[in-house]
Amino acid sequence: MLHDVVVVGAGPVGSTLALSLAAGDVDVIVVDARPAGRIARSDRSLALSHGARLILERVGVWDGLSLAAGAVTPIARIDISQAGGFGQTQLAAQEHGLAALGYVVSYRALQAALDAALARSSVAMRHAATVTAVRGGTAHAAVEIADPALTGFVEASETIRAPLFARLAAVADGTGDAMAFVARQRHDYGQVALVAKLFVAAPHDGTAYERFTPDGPMALLPEHDGYGLVWTATPARAQQLLAFSDDEFLLELARHFGARSGRFTRVADRRTFPLVMEYAREPARARCVALGNAAQTLHPVAGQGFNLGLRDAWELAQIVLDSPREQIGADEMLARYSRSRRTDRMAGIAFTHGLVRLFGNDLPLVRWPRGLALTLLDSVPAAKRAFTHAMLFGIR
Ligand SMILES: Cc1cc2nc3c(=O)[nH]c(=O)nc-3n(C[C@H](O)[C@H](O)[C@H](O)COP(=O)(O)OP(=O)(O)OC[C@H]3O[C@@H](n4cnc5c(N)ncnc54)[C@H](O)[C@@H]3O)c2cc1C
Repeated sequence: MLHDVVVVGAGPVGSTLALSLAAGDVDVIVVDARPAGRIARSDRSLALSHGARLILERVGVWDGLSLAAGAVTPIARIDISQAGGFGQTQLAAQEHGLAALGYVVSYRALQAALDAALARSSVAMRHAATVTAVRGGTAHAAVEIADPALTGFVEASETIRAPLFARLAAVADGTGDAMAFVARQRHDYGQVALVAKLFVAAPHDGTAYERFTPDGPMALLPEHDGYGLVWTATPARAQQLLAFSDDEFLLELARHFGARSGRFTRVADRRTFPLVMEYAREPARARCVALGNAAQTLHPVAGQGFNLGLRDAWELAQIVLDSPREQIGADEMLARYSRSRRTDRMAGIAFTHGLVRLFGNDLPLVRWPRGLALTLLDSVPAAKRAFTHAMLFGIR
């Protein structure tokens, strides 16, 4: 059987693509390694732009998500500063006539809402099915699957491959591993992000803090009854921070962050992950396309990666829905998709990488220009508007 689209990975990006496609007359099947109803146990705080909210509204998950207790926290302002240097700026939703600059969303809550929406939709799902490779071709793409559900009648160690064929394979597996034939640029920042949940003595007022410190950028995202913390540091420093007792960790955090956000009372779920930038210059080829983190994995400093991924999904769906069936996955359609995403993707990648280069180290030579950048941003309304627009909607 030849499907129109096979979506590899039902994470936030793959699910958004599948739900967007469900609006049209397209035969879609989604394959995910997760068993039905299983969501990663550890949570993450995702910073969602206003543009990303609009996409989630269109696929019908936003209203339910925003009603779920603690799942969505509006960001009223963003306070940007650097430790031990001049320069500070605040971006406020009110200044731009918006109810919020963005939202902090729990990954688990978002995934649960998307899973439920997919279960209600007409989209076919294959759970607990790990894709081992996606192969491109001229007539169709083949998606090879190791399906544990089929191994009941063979040796447990044996892999049964039941390929799926489609006019288009859309790979949103979070890494791009399933689409190994696409060339990727990679830059290792030599740093890791330590993430944790923080609780505070007094309720937050919706302010997100971005602070540039000698360790690297730190962010506090207002989330439900506390903050989501992202603290970038060298791997050795992160190990030290992980080894601290909770009280020692909170003391060190207060020393680094100052008293801007009030007193921290408790920390939970400290974890680290490596910081790399990895992206495919050309994400589409031979009836296959990578999107979301599979197409670009970015440093979390500017909160761009996840939002770019949702825009990948939305744009791809619009182009598929706009194409006659026989054109789905054809070279012209893929070229149209690549063209439509190039500026937004490349600008998002350059913006994030530039921010890390400017703010990600503590050389005195850099401290001065970044103080200037923050001061200029604060004193030139047009620069501030452009920066805020980039954070809200991406760069086009
Ligand atoms: C450890 C970690 C922490 C992060 N923390 C933050 C944070 O604090 N803030 C932030 O903004 N961003 C964070 N990010 C980035 C953010 O999680 C991503 O931008 C977002 O998850 C991208 O969504 P996605 O749908 O592209 O991929 P994912 O969310 O990774 O989803 C991929 C999906 O594909 C499935 N899958 C994977 N491989 C296969 C396969 N071979 N076969 C079938 N299915 C497969 C998975 O089960 C999953 O459902 C973090 C990323 C990581 C890895």
